[in-house]
Amino acid sequence: MQGLMMDMPLLISTILQHAARHHGDTEIVSRRLEGDIHRYTYAQCEARARRMADALTRLGVHAGDRVATLAWNGYRHMEIYYAVGGMGAVVHTINPRLHPDQIAWIANHAGDSYLAFDISFLPIVEAIADKCPNIRGWIAMIDPDRQPASDKLANLINYETLIEGGSADFRWPELDERSAVALCYTSGTTGNPKGALYAHRSTVLHAYGAALPDAMGASARDSILPVVPMFHVNAWGIPYTAPLVGAKLVFPGAQLDGKSIYELFESEGVTYSAGVPTVWLGLLQHVKQNGLKFSTLKRTVIGGSACPPAMIRSFNDDFGVDVIHAWGMTELSPLGTLSRLQNKHMSLPEAEQQKILEKQGHVIFGVDMKIVDDAGSEIAWDGKTYGNLLVRGPWVIREYFRGEGGDPLEYDSEGRGWFPTGDVATIDADGYMQITDRSKDVIKSGGEWISSIDLENLAIAHPAVANAAVIGVVHPKWDERPLLIVVKRPGAELTKEELLKFYEGKIAKWWMPDDVQFVDAIPLGATGKILKTKLREQFKDYTLPTA
Ligand code: ADP
Repeated sequence: MQGLMMDMPLLISTILQHAARHHGDTEIVSRRLEGDIHRYTYAQCEARARRMADALTRLGVHAGDRVATLAWNGYRHMEIYYAVGGMGAVVHTINPRLHPDQIAWIANHAGDSYLAFDISFLPIVEAIADKCPNIRGWIAMIDPDRQPASDKLANLINYETLIEGGSADFRWPELDERSAVALCYTSGTTGNPKGALYAHRSTVLHAYGAALPDAMGASARDSILPVVPMFHVNAWGIPYTAPLVGAKLVFPGAQLDGKSIYELFESEGVTYSAGVPTVWLGLLQHVKQNGLKFSTLKRTVIGGSACPPAMIRSFNDDFGVDVIHAWGMTELSPLGTLSRLQNKHMSLPEAEQQKILEKQGHVIFGVDMKIVDDAGSEIAWDGKTYGNLLVRGPWVIREYFRGEGGDPLEYDSEGRGWFPTGDVATIDADGYMQITDRSKDVIKSGGEWISSIDLENLAIAHPAVANAAVIGVVHPKWDERPLLIVVKRPGAELTKEELLKFYEGKIAKWWMPDDVQFVDAIPLGATGKILKTKLREQFKDYTLPTA
């Protein structure tokens, strides 16, 4: 027997329509490349997105076509998300921090038909134009009077002029909810970039899941500033979650330094933010150096790489801001787990609560997970034994775009497919997952594993350390031993001996790094994560003193 409820497809256009109808005067505020602060409402955003959808239709963009963006977080980028996705085409967000050759490779692999870009990326666009013969036009996201000329681009279109030619009568089509809406390539921290192709259905379900109180806990009372870029897994879904709940949105544009972000936090009453640990290092430094406080910020989601416990404590103790440690992946839209306390944890001493909050957290409905050994057998949830982390759910990929890499799933005895995350983790009896390492980064010493994340977190807790990374280096006896690579805080004094002493009593003796190397900077990838591949390359001729 079928249920007798209305058969309305889950489409992203319905999210923005909802915001326009029911939170019509809620603001979207953006710091623009033009230099000013732009503000308008969800109602205006939806109207412009419809006109843009019509304009793109007139340009010959059809359902399923890919339209790329190279853009910061801003209202025009938001409009493109909805215009392109809502009309049935696919918005392909490209990370502008990648090398132009890689950008061209991704755009060609995706088969992009048009590319919209913030004017600060004009040099990239000019560098790749020749290499991307399928891109029919380049859409400059800037006021027409500010648009520079370019003799390298055959079809340069102004965003505002384009929108003006679109009809306000455009109506969102009723699409199949399983049709594609957005395409995002993994940042390639490990191996070649591969495309995750999200559907309307998966995106809407993810937006619902993300909004839940024990997930991001977003509401119409929030003013949300996503520092995480819209080119990094859809800013963790915030451009969908915020209009779904009717939250105010604040977009920081190109200015991601601590001072600029702090200014927006204060001027726009931001209650909620999200970003990778490296951006918060800069923000905390700025706030502490200048003796500032956050007057409205209540919580921030930190994920993308392990959030050092010292950072959670600092947000909490120094500023009264809750950190929600989250884990996810491009292949998971991206949310998988978030760390929030449960009812039974409320009576625990603070130090024990802290330990729970430092973990990567509990799944939200929409994701199931398990840890397995190398033979694929499930491992106990004891919080100690680690194994390969696998996930499944309606917003987890089942294959990569264009079938890249073949079938990525592993199948259980009942034939259900699980996506192997490439992460190594423990899960405790309450279902809280903790990442030990990426399987590629874990240090294998004498047949046992050492977690590079644990060693990094400890180093970062030292007051003289600005950033730290640990890699495994070949060792004749132990296969691999940990090497600690450290960037000191400006002006700080620190020796190898002092730092190793700091580890004593905090880790098993055999986890002790074999050496410490001080460097000026640690290479970061396009999404602000430590690039271990590059570090390993940098230290390929290095020999441990113990070798
Ligand atoms: P890429 O794999 O190209 O870096 P993603 O942004 O999809 O792109 O990265 C996902 C990976 O980032 C995860 O598999 C995991 O290794 C790491 N990661 C994400 N969040 C966390 C976290 N909170 N703690 C530790 N690692 C994390």
